[in-house]
Amino acid sequence: MNPKYSVLLIEDEESIRSFISTTLKSQGYKITTAACGQEGLHLCASLCPDIILLDLGLPDIDGMTIIAKLREWSSTPIIVISARSHEQEKAKALDLGADDYITKPFGTVELLARIRTSLRHGNQFAVGNTPYAPIYRHKELMIDYDKHLVTLAGEMIHLTQIEYKLITLLAQNSGKVLTYSYIMEKIWGPYIDNNNQILRVNMANIRRKIEKNPATPEHVFTEIGIGYRMAECEQ
Ligand code: CA
Repeated sequence: MNPKYSVLLIEDEESIRSFISTTLKSQGYKITTAACGQEGLHLCASLCPDIILLDLGLPDIDGMTIIAKLREWSSTPIIVISARSHEQEKAKALDLGADDYITKPFGTVELLARIRTSLRHGNQFAVGNTPYAPIYRHKELMIDYDKHLVTLAGEMIHLTQIEYKLITLLAQNSGKVLTYSYIMEKIWGPYIDNNNQILRVNMANIRRKIEKNPATPEHVFTEIGIGYRMAECEQ
């Protein structure tokens, strides 16, 4: 019933390798580790893991290069493990094709949640299912994609066309962080300049409409310097 997912961890720090290995084994994951990039790339090709955890600072190959190389032939979800305060690095990794990131030091709960989210998104595409449920629900917020309807505690929320496009993009990728540049391109097209003022204005308007207290959001979170993450859809 519960398939044993295989995880490939590429990380040169021994203490983090052993922490993650122990945590994942105790949750029933099958884990293989690599201490450098070269070994990681080889193992990825030979094992075809279900998910890859990748440290960006490796002794031999830069983590960005590994993401780019993997994305030439593999769509396996990649979660980047990165040091705090490297926002630009994280955004670049996501734009290169990583699915998510986790910041050192991180706890078990956060690690497991990120892995579950990425596996779920990866699987949906792999088996050709619709990539998202027809309705997004989180607490009192509901989005019905077919009806183009957004409600909060049963009350209809009026959104502009751009605001609706934005919230559905985030909801259909709920649980994942989307970078500013990814969102800008999806909503305004590839020729929009990379000043994200227009995005921030629209997001502020959405928050005023869907959050009880926009200063402490419950539904859409800001990942400072990177982008936005919408709360995971409740099953
Ligand atoms: Ca490292």
